[in-house]
Amino acid sequence: MSSKTISFLYHEVTDNPESSGFQRTGALPYQHKVSHFKSDLKLILKHFNSSEDVTTFPKTGNKTTLILTFDDGGVSAVDIAEILENKKLVGHFFVTTSMIGKPTFLNAEQIRGIRKNGHIIGAHSHNHPSIFRDLSYCEKINEWRQCKEILEKILNEEVTTASVPGGDMDLDTIRSAGEVGIKFLFTSEPNFTVYKKFGVLVLGRVCPKNTTSPSEISRWAIGKGFIRARLFRAAKEFIRVRLKFFYKIYVKKNDAPL
Ligand SMILES: [Zn+2]
Repeated sequence: MSSKTISFLYHEVTDNPESSGFQRTGALPYQHKVSHFKSDLKLILKHFNSSEDVTTFPKTGNKTTLILTFDDGGVSAVDIAEILENKKLVGHFFVTTSMIGKPTFLNAEQIRGIRKNGHIIGAHSHNHPSIFRDLSYCEKINEWRQCKEILEKILNEEVTTASVPGGDMDLDTIRSAGEVGIKFLFTSEPNFTVYKKFGVLVLGRVCPKNTTSPSEISRWAIGKGFIRARLFRAAKEFIRVRLKFFYKIYVKKNDAPL
């Protein structure tokens, strides 16, 4: 396997934020303008010749691998896929299946089209629960299973990749994904360490906001600056666990993290 895997997590890429993805306050920092995304991509591609398809792991060699992922299944995924295709890059698109066909989300035909053009379609749960790890084990299983089955029916092929909605996870999040046949699970933990748990290959990601500076993007692309991102994440984790009551109020007020 590669010595490092740098996985980027984006959401919507559009000049009309109201036209794609979740329409809520918490989603705004993750809406990228097209030119902004292209600039990020340019910076990232200074260090890579290509992006990889996670389902072809494990790989041999010591080169650092780039993986591009896009969460939620907003309709801007169609344009994102085209931008990637023009650069001969592969993307991973994680779809919230309860939103399929809704006004700002992909429909079944668009999902098939993106897959046909060589990208990976994966699960992002059925209902995009606000705090995934607060679900019971049975509910976690149901979220993954329902999502996976709907996508498999649309694509007529097995779906083995997924990303955790909202990024709030625990060991049962991985275990439940593995139990329904997910083999590759992307988290929102900012690290480049890939590990296997319950038969699932778990990969961290860094998530640029529309306020993330070009220098930060460049640093992430070479596997630096993750410690700061991890510290920020750890602070959020502390608030989640120790100040759960207030975190739930925050999530409710912002209509859930992504
Ligand atoms: Zn999401």
